[in-house]
Amino acid sequence: MFKKILIANRGEIACRVAATAKRLAIRTVAVYSDADADARHVKACDEAVYLGGSAPKDSYLRWERIIEAAKATGAQAVHPGYGFLSENEEFAKACAEAGLVFIGPPASAIQAMGLKAESKQLMEKAGVPLVPGYHGAGQDPQMLQQEADRIGYPVLIKASAGGGGKGMRAVESAAQFQAALASCKREAINSFGDDAVLVEKYVQRPRHIEIQVFGDTQGNCVYLFERDCSVQRRHQKVLEEAPAPGMTEAMRKEMGEAAVAAARAVNYVGAGTVEFIVEQRAGGEMNFFFMEMNTRLQVEHPVTEAITGLDLVEWQLRVASGEPLPMKQEELQISGHAIEARICAESPDNNFLPATGRLDVARWPLHVVFRRNADAERFHEPAPVRIDTGFGEGDAISPYYDSMIAKLIVHGATREQALARLDEALAQTHIVGIQTNVQFLRHVVGSKSFAQADLDTALIPREEAVLFKQERLGMPLAVACAVARTLLQEKTLAGADPFSRRDGWRSHGINLRPFEFEFHGETVKAQLSYLHDGALMLKAGDVSGALVFTSDDAEIDVQFAGQRTRASVYASGEMNHVFTPSAATQILAIDLLEHAGVAHAETGRLTAPMPGKVVSFSVKAGDKVSKGQALAVMEAMKMEHTIAAPADGTVAELLYSPGDQVSEGAELLRIS
Ligand code: ADP
Ligand code: ADP
Ligand code: MG
Repeated sequence: MFKKILIANRGEIACRVAATAKRLAIRTVAVYSDADADARHVKACDEAVYLGGSAPKDSYLRWERIIEAAKATGAQAVHPGYGFLSENEEFAKACAEAGLVFIGPPASAIQAMGLKAESKQLMEKAGVPLVPGYHGAGQDPQMLQQEADRIGYPVLIKASAGGGGKGMRAVESAAQFQAALASCKREAINSFGDDAVLVEKYVQRPRHIEIQVFGDTQGNCVYLFERDCSVQRRHQKVLEEAPAPGMTEAMRKEMGEAAVAAARAVNYVGAGTVEFIVEQRAGGEMNFFFMEMNTRLQVEHPVTEAITGLDLVEWQLRVASGEPLPMKQEELQISGHAIEARICAESPDNNFLPATGRLDVARWPLHVVFRRNADAERFHEPAPVRIDTGFGEGDAISPYYDSMIAKLIVHGATREQALARLDEALAQTHIVGIQTNVQFLRHVVGSKSFAQADLDTALIPREEAVLFKQERLGMPLAVACAVARTLLQEKTLAGADPFSRRDGWRSHGINLRPFEFEFHGETVKAQLSYLHDGALMLKAGDVSGALVFTSDDAEIDVQFAGQRTRASVYASGEMNHVFTPSAATQILAIDLLEHAGVAHAETGRLTAPMPGKVVSFSVKAGDKVSKGQALAVMEAMKMEHTIAAPADGTVAELLYSPGDQVSEGAELLRIS
């Protein structure tokens, strides 16, 4: 086994690899960029080497420098994590040439699976089922269209070099084919530097089911069962679970063996994932087709760890150091059910726009066994709740890397139990300072489709009505929670006397105190009456009733207008962030003394929501535009964002050109 490894990654995966290394008494070397100078993954390792600037190309993608760092620190092997250099065959080769072990498959296997079209040709030879389609070398647009006509619409055009859900276009009919092809090729050349595409049948209401495989240098290869990753948005995974609901023993074996055949066809070594698209037929029959192989440890590997009781990073390290696989196929077993939720800095209600900022509050599930990766001494006992993260309170989510803050993984005896546990754990995940998808995830988990395991890649659009723009707590309770928090805070500040308030006035026996809030864009006037017997009456909008609350360190128990809830309320400035077991919301307190008469100003400025690159403008100076019209496209945090007109007007000036790098808040164009 290795004595020291370098972890060429950041965030949760670097911390996760470091934890297993620590448990196995392997020393670790971290690498970091400017933005990550104080990051957790640096602290999680024994040593750290500075790479360079914050942009990946100046740091985590500088492989010469990473190899130098490994040699300088005496590391024997390099773990690439996922993303960055993990599927870069040049890097794998360079490691070998430098005498370092690349903890991953041989460069030849990465290369063979690197392009979707070529890998499909290989799989066809190995007898692995493929989606009907064209994956040859020819790229003549007319020929591709003929192939699409032959396959039958709808078809999917895919960038062969694509990944991360990018470079795909669904085409409904022959008339749309050429336009979609051109736009797919444009995105492919911009994102992957290669515009080769393939065309395949667009499977209707498909499921994404993938198989975890593992090979060793002795020629053994096993499958560690499946993960269902059908819940996606924009072809990116949102929730992943194992085992796949509805999977039969026969199909599991068939898919597992197909995945092993795929891995064997490229002499695979280490951890890999074979992704299949599954067509659901009437009568419950399922057909599976090879989609692609990811030649690395996958983001969602913890669900496999939870159901098998294994540590996949330990397996990776053992295999890379030349040991045989620790178990044979017959020894592997599934126990219970696991689900992972990806907690991301983003705004689901705003088209999943990624968010950046500081984690002012980051509280993970309270009342459950919380096991950090580091105490994974007994991995065979999966924790009911596991959090994998590279961030904590006070840390920033920067615009340079992807927006995942943490992975929340739950395990239960049954799917139902895992689901209930996930909902509870999400409710106890309190993040303030950055917008996150936590409440959206709760809505998905609570949706009828997910609860009934009616899974396919269209689950999110199908359940749209209950997933987005939801207010589950309601104004009266939100106001009650905000008022209670204010009073509790004043009490703490002023000592025990509940009457030492900042404002409000006393009349004979009754004291009235006005409040004003902004809740979902609406102004809510509230009034608190202090009755002479010490009781409180609250009027919130036109809802009135007694306000009763008690608190301990963590929570306030609030009763108002026939409702009662436990709540954790955090204030950042005048914003109250309210978390209850059933919902979370935000309510802004308007300071009546300070803000008298200040109105919000409207401007015609159009600014970058975050640092990134200008992709294109769809207007030019002098154009008339109407409210909501798309004006420009920006790329940031690996996603494209459309900048739309806030009101009708005329474009006065474009301030940047496509390709320009812009900082957050930069004015992109001006409208008069
Ligand atoms: P996995 O397949 O491991 O579950 P994903 O498919 O979501 O993970 O992402 C695959 C890889 O692509 C990851 O290494 C991740 O860093 C990267 N990635 C994630 N989201 C995007 C994106 N929007 N665009 C490009 N790459 C992405
Ligand atoms: P990436 O490299 O971006 O992960 P994949 O080929 O793995 O690309 O596809 C990503 C997702 O796109 C799949 O999980 C699935 O939701 C959808 N998808 C891919 N191929 C098809 C298809 N033929 N029909 C319908 N959906 C598909
Ligand atoms: Mg994929």
